[in-house]
Amino acid sequence: MAANIEIAKTEVETIIEKAELIYAQNFPAITCFERAIFFSWGCIIGDCTFCYMSTQPAEKKPTETKRSTESILAEFILAKNLGWDIGFFTGGIGVFTPSEIEFLLRSAVEITEEKIWLSVGALSTPLIKKYLPYIKGVVGSTETINPVLHKKVCPSKPLQPYEKMFVEAKKLNLLTAMTFIVGMGEVNSDLTLLIDFIKKYQIDKIHVYGLIPQEGTMFQCHKPPTKEEQAWWIAQLRIACPKLDIQCGVWEDRMERVSYLLKAGANSVSKFRATALFGTSVARELELQAKKAGRQFQGTVTKLPDIDWNKEVEKLSFDSTLKKNILRKLNEYLAVMRKNITKNSN
Ligand code: SF4
Repeated sequence: MAANIEIAKTEVETIIEKAELIYAQNFPAITCFERAIFFSWGCIIGDCTFCYMSTQPAEKKPTETKRSTESILAEFILAKNLGWDIGFFTGGIGVFTPSEIEFLLRSAVEITEEKIWLSVGALSTPLIKKYLPYIKGVVGSTETINPVLHKKVCPSKPLQPYEKMFVEAKKLNLLTAMTFIVGMGEVNSDLTLLIDFIKKYQIDKIHVYGLIPQEGTMFQCHKPPTKEEQAWWIAQLRIACPKLDIQCGVWEDRMERVSYLLKAGANSVSKFRATALFGTSVARELELQAKKAGRQFQGTVTKLPDIDWNKEVEKLSFDSTLKKNILRKLNEYLAVMRKNITKNSN
C-alpha cells in the first residue's frame, strides 16, 4: 500500500473486524486521551523532513526555544486532574541538559505520583540510569522502519542508536515504545519489517500517527493518510501483536475517524490539542467517538472537575516562587478552558 493510495475499503473492514475481536479478548472496553507534554519548540537535529521543528529559523538557537518550567509543570497538574495519561515527556533533542531533564522528571513524578514515559532521543545507558527513578519506559521516535524511507525523512536520526537504547532499557526492566507515522511513503511490505522490529526489541507500545503536512516541509502539499490507511496499520499490528499497547495520533481535523481507529484496535488517542480545545465541539466529538466505538472514555476533555487548584499547587514541595509561577500559568490555562466551555455551552 503506497501512502495516500486509497486501499480497498472492504479489505480494511475485514481486518478491522478481526482486530476488534482481538482487542476485546485482550483489553477492557475503555480508552483515554494521552497527552504528550513538550518542553521546547526547537531541536539540535532539526532536519527531519516532516517535522515542524525543522522549519524553525536557522538563527534561532534550539536552547532558546525552551518552554518555561512553570508552564510545563502546570500542564502536568492539569493532565493529572483531568484524567489524561501522560503519553510521554518530550521535546527537541539537545535543548535541555541532563540535569535539567532530571529536575523536570522528578517534579513531574511528584505531581503525577507515577513514573512517566520519556522521549528525548536515543539515550545512552548512563543517561537511562540517571533517569531510572522517574521513568517507566523510553520512547524511540523511530518514525518509519523502511531503511530507504527512514534515511530520507530522518537524515540525521538513524535507527541504530534507538535499537541500542531499546536493548539497554530492557536490561533495566523498562518498558519500550516507538513511533510510526503513516503517510510519508511507507509501503505495504514494511509491515513485516515493523512486526519483526517490534518482536526483536520487545516493544511494548507503539504510537501510530497520521502525517500532518507541515507548512515549510517537503510534505506540505501531501494529503494526510485516509482513515482506512491509518486503520490498516493499527489493525494489522493488533492482529500480529495482540497485547501491544497501540496509541493512535489524531489531529483535530480528523476527529471523525477516532471510532474507526479504536475499532481497528487502538488503545488510546493522542495529538489532540486538549488544552487549547478543551470544552469545544471538537473535544465533545472525541468523547462521542469513544462511545461510538463502544469504549468508555476515561478522564475528560469537556468538563472541568471541581478542584481546589491552589491546594494542588500548594501541596507540592517546590520553592514558593516556582509555585506562584505555576499557579499563574495554571490559571491562564484554566481561563482558556472556562472560556471555551462558556462559548460552547449552547
Ligand atoms: S529529532 Fe525529533 S524533534 Fe528533532 S527534527 Fe527530528 S523529529 Fe523533529
